[in-house]
Amino acid sequence: MESFDVLIIGGGPAGTMTGIELRKKGYKTCIIDKEAFPREKLCGGLLTQKSVDLITRHCPGLDPSDFVVEQSDTVDFFYQGEKINRFRTKRVYYFTERTIFDDLLIRYYLELGGKLLQQVPLKIDDIHFRKSTLTTGSSTYNYKYLVGADGCNSVLCKAARIKRHDFLCVKGKISRDLRQEKELRIYFNVAKRGYGWYFPRKEYYCVGMGGEESGKKICYRAKRFFREEFDQQVLQIKGAFLPSGRKLNTRRLPKNTIPVGDAAGFTDPVTGEGLYFAMLSGILAAGAIDASAKSQNKNVIGLYNKNVLPIWKNIRAARFWKSVLFFSPFLKTFMKHLKTHTSFALFYLERVIATGEFDYTNFLKVYFLKIRSIH
Ligand SMILES: Cc1cc2nc3c(=O)[nH]c(=O)nc-3n(C[C@H](O)[C@H](O)[C@H](O)COP(=O)(O)OP(=O)(O)OC[C@H]3O[C@@H](n4cnc5c(N)ncnc54)[C@H](O)[C@@H]3O)c2cc1C
Repeated sequence: MESFDVLIIGGGPAGTMTGIELRKKGYKTCIIDKEAFPREKLCGGLLTQKSVDLITRHCPGLDPSDFVVEQSDTVDFFYQGEKINRFRTKRVYYFTERTIFDDLLIRYYLELGGKLLQQVPLKIDDIHFRKSTLTTGSSTYNYKYLVGADGCNSVLCKAARIKRHDFLCVKGKISRDLRQEKELRIYFNVAKRGYGWYFPRKEYYCVGMGGEESGKKICYRAKRFFREEFDQQVLQIKGAFLPSGRKLNTRRLPKNTIPVGDAAGFTDPVTGEGLYFAMLSGILAAGAIDASAKSQNKNVIGLYNKNVLPIWKNIRAARFWKSVLFFSPFLKTFMKHLKTHTSFALFYLERVIATGEFDYTNFLKVYFLKIRSIH
């Protein structure tokens, strides 16, 4: 039986970042993934400035130009078939291909000496919480700590019978005329408490939709949105789940087990941004494991929950803002306001979403008390 300090289920950004941070601290780690890298992951591929900053801070030597395939400083808002306004942001938005991005992170982890088992799809019965072992075929692995970084369909959550609250998102591709502008578009009021998007990539546009609706309804709405909004046919339409932002009850998990990223339910419920929170929670998980190992405090999930409390506070505040923003009469008035006023949208796009300088717990207060009074 091979023993590891930490076994990590899933080699997406959450699992890999956990592995990278732990390898830097010298822990013996193994990532187990059901796919072979490079692998595809359904995603809009939008990376905010705070995500790029986090990567450059924690993965020295990784150059953003290795994974950024496109960038844009132009955001167009649409509402009821009409372009409301165009916002030129001081902070650019970056776009990546997950095939490239996730592979680069995995390779970075491997270079630090981490182990990776690929094409190993774990099942519920493979996880033995009581014995702290994982079984894959004829092999058994022993662990001190277990990290679930296996996304929305988390086998870890299933094994612990944790109820999840995820929504289906739909995305597709349309070809890109390279002479055209590379603006980023957000379509409001096309899905219930959600939005439609149009993101530039190197050779195509990634279009999609997410909202708080059943899978069947969102598929129907997405197809209608694609048909009505774009002249060209939308190709390769696929769907995948995204956490809703509702907190998961992790009390069923053993004290040496941590969920990170989508598996833990971390996402910005307004924008659907998950990459930043996946990587950040991975870093915080590694910090909690290190603290637990050094202090002999076996309750690593307790330490981790303290570390991620600010993320949950931010997400809870974001859910409140979302309920206000997508309340029909408010959204209508807000869109009307945005036709002539750009300062609030720019503040939100640049300093809340892009850099995370302010979060949902304080951005309205900061804007109305400090920023607006200056303008
Ligand atoms: C349509 C769509 C568009 C999105 N667009 C954006 C965006 O533009 N920007 C953004 O920031 N976020 C976006 N997100 C969210 C983002 O994709 C996720 O938040 C992010 O991928 C979470 O990373 P993760 O590492 O937690 O999980 P994942 O990236 O899902 O990685 C999980 C890994 O676990 C592996 N795995 C799963 N089950 C098992 C198993 N049983 N055994 C072994 N391995 C397993 C998988 O193969 C995978 O490699 C989008 C999501 C969707 C659905």
